[in-house]
Amino acid sequence: MLGAAEPLLDIRQLNVSYENLQVLWDVTLHVHEGEIVTILGANGAGKTTLVQSIFGLTRASRGSVLFQGDDITGRTPDIIVRKGLSLVPEKRELFPKMTVLENLDLGGYALNTGAVDRTDLYDLFPVLQERESQLAGTLSGGEQQMLAIARALMARPSLLVLDEPSLGLSPLLVTTVLDSIQKLNHNGLTILLVEQNVQHALEISHRAYILENGRVTREGSASDLLSDSDIRAAYLGI
Ligand code: ATP
Repeated sequence: MLGAAEPLLDIRQLNVSYENLQVLWDVTLHVHEGEIVTILGANGAGKTTLVQSIFGLTRASRGSVLFQGDDITGRTPDIIVRKGLSLVPEKRELFPKMTVLENLDLGGYALNTGAVDRTDLYDLFPVLQERESQLAGTLSGGEQQMLAIARALMARPSLLVLDEPSLGLSPLLVTTVLDSIQKLNHNGLTILLVEQNVQHALEISHRAYILENGRVTREGSASDLLSDSDIRAAYLGI
């Protein structure tokens, strides 16, 4: 059980290197139940590396990741997913030769419940129900992103982590995808979001962290960061 003030996700002084290149330096951040927390940063800042470290896909040389108070550092991805974390990866990583339905069902494999209820996912993204039997590789970019999110939700997570979900989407689809993330949060899901679409991401977030060259250089409420002139100049060009 989590204490009232205890974060759902608690990352403490995480250090990650590739060979002899250190990419994350003492990264400390947390996400409380019910929040949308966004990580902002330029290309190469280390955002994907951080996300992969949470899921045991990249090994930390120092520091720890706690989820619901349990130390999950160095655990394998399947164990981490069973604990209630689910990832929408940057490159979506769908199975293009499998149908929408088959991709969805793979997302729920870790539950082992037998009973599969997709009603809420189809309420969120009705197009997926219309396209159930279509091969994932033939979906449009926006539909593929919706499928990637829906597949991650099939694991019934308590924390959903999304790595640049709006990447490569048209402005209209960016709005559709980010609005759906906000809707999920309103329905009780906690969200950790990596985004380059700074304005829109901060508009739907409670708090945010700025990652620069592998270090957290700023953190604060989304509204404070959105009205900060340095942040606006650096990330919004205004
Ligand atoms: P982007 O927004 O462009 O996706 P990012 O903030 O997600 O960038 P990362 O992908 O985490 O950044 O990369 C951080 C640094 O680590 C970059 O310099 C990158 O070249 C390097 N890097 C990432 N993956 C590897 C790897 N497997 N081996 C070696 N270096 C890597």
